[in-house]
Amino acid sequence: MSRIVFMNDRLMPEDEARVSVFDHGLLYGDGVFEGLRSYAGRVFRLEAHIDRLWESARAICLEIPLSKAAVADAVNQTLAANQLADGYVRLVVTRGAGSLGLDPTRTKNPQVIVIADTISLYPREYYEKGLRIVTAATQRTQSAALSPRIKSLNYLNNIMAKLEGLEAGCVEALMLNHKGEVAECTGDNIFIVRGGALLTPPRDAGILEGITRNAVLELAVQAGMIAVEATLVRHDLYTADECFLTGTAAEVIPVVTIDGRCIGSGTPGPITMRLSKDFHTLVRA
Ligand code: PMP
Repeated sequence: MSRIVFMNDRLMPEDEARVSVFDHGLLYGDGVFEGLRSYAGRVFRLEAHIDRLWESARAICLEIPLSKAAVADAVNQTLAANQLADGYVRLVVTRGAGSLGLDPTRTKNPQVIVIADTISLYPREYYEKGLRIVTAATQRTQSAALSPRIKSLNYLNNIMAKLEGLEAGCVEALMLNHKGEVAECTGDNIFIVRGGALLTPPRDAGILEGITRNAVLELAVQAGMIAVEATLVRHDLYTADECFLTGTAAEVIPVVTIDGRCIGSGTPGPITMRLSKDFHTLVRA
């Protein structure tokens, strides 16, 4: 099936949507992106995704050549053009084409691309039985080197960790920061439950501040739970009552073993299931 893609100023068939081989997005991973999801024709937290895209762009001194409203409009238009009520949207802004050198000031025309597609979901079984994950030896990039809060086109740090997870037969892998503290998984944020309270690493642990993460923190507070950002180490995970991951694609997914150790009862916990249910209600509200 041929898709309709939005590029810069208009919708076009996917075959016409091309970027230059001189685009620094391709040559250096110089650019930013977002992954969004629509439920029943409505994009979940569109504004938050657009704001995060702008924040990422600002952090790398990339000026997006469209307004926030125009990009939001492009996201909705692309979903509609592909007749996707429940879909996944990839929003990309590249640095644009330039010379074969790093200098971003010698590039022009950042490319704004919106791709909408059906979403590929984890099998149902993972949600019912829980995921097994392992800790990757690859550390999360230090903020002093490159802030993990930038959702940039350079995802090699996460890809290296993902490869380690796959090698161990796991679809996700845990990443620690350079201090050995828990940061996040390769494409998802992590939470634990301990004594009824919800804990998740703070922004400065080396995470992408997930939009699903923030929604789950709000849901927990609304449900009367204690929900806090806290520095976590693997000891906290191994001895937790429950563990789960959050992300746009994964939503809320239970984790039942980490590095071969059972977490809590070794089955998805009640608080995880409650938050998962509340999240499903929220996205369709
Ligand atoms: N961490 C990383 C590294 C990610 O790539 C993602 C997915 N965008 C997340 C966390 C989860 O963020 P969100 O809930 O906004 O999808």
